[in-house]
Amino acid sequence: MSDCVFCNIVEGQIPSAKVHEDGLTLAFMDIGQVNPGHVLVAVKPHVENIYGLDDRLAAAVFQTTARVARAVQKAYTPEGVTLYQANGAAAGQTVYHFHLHIVPRYDKDGMRLTWPAKNPPREQLEADAAKIRNALTPD
Ligand code: 5GP
Ligand code: ZN
Repeated sequence: MSDCVFCNIVEGQIPSAKVHEDGLTLAFMDIGQVNPGHVLVAVKPHVENIYGLDDRLAAAVFQTTARVARAVQKAYTPEGVTLYQANGAAAGQTVYHFHLHIVPRYDKDGMRLTWPAKNPPREQLEADAAKIRNALTPD
């Protein structure tokens, strides 16, 4: 058994209700179910967070997410679907193996992410964009 719960799920050491599996990703029901139809899409290799995803894994996990989101929409016809993905404790991550939540949503369903917009001036946005551009690695 690994120390990582999602590695154990990927390896079949811990049971899960599987939705989809391919060479690089596994989609399975979240044990907590914020709303019925709440699915997790994880990468199969142990990668802690988004910073460790190579382009191939990043593409694969979002391809699976889009496919499963369409299936959740078809199966549950929720009023909306939220994709949620946390990196680091401050962001709300509790399992340190990269995964993305697909959460069916309904008006007043109790799920909340507050959005304290600061609306900075345009010059600040330009300065921030340049800072991030400078940190980008080449394709
Ligand atoms: P995070 O907070 O890291 O974004 O989300 C971790 C999620 O993993 C939680 O929503 C939690 O319910 C789910 N989870 C934790 N342990 C297990 C497990 O053993 N099986 C399944 N199916 N989900 C789990
Ligand atoms: Zn893992």
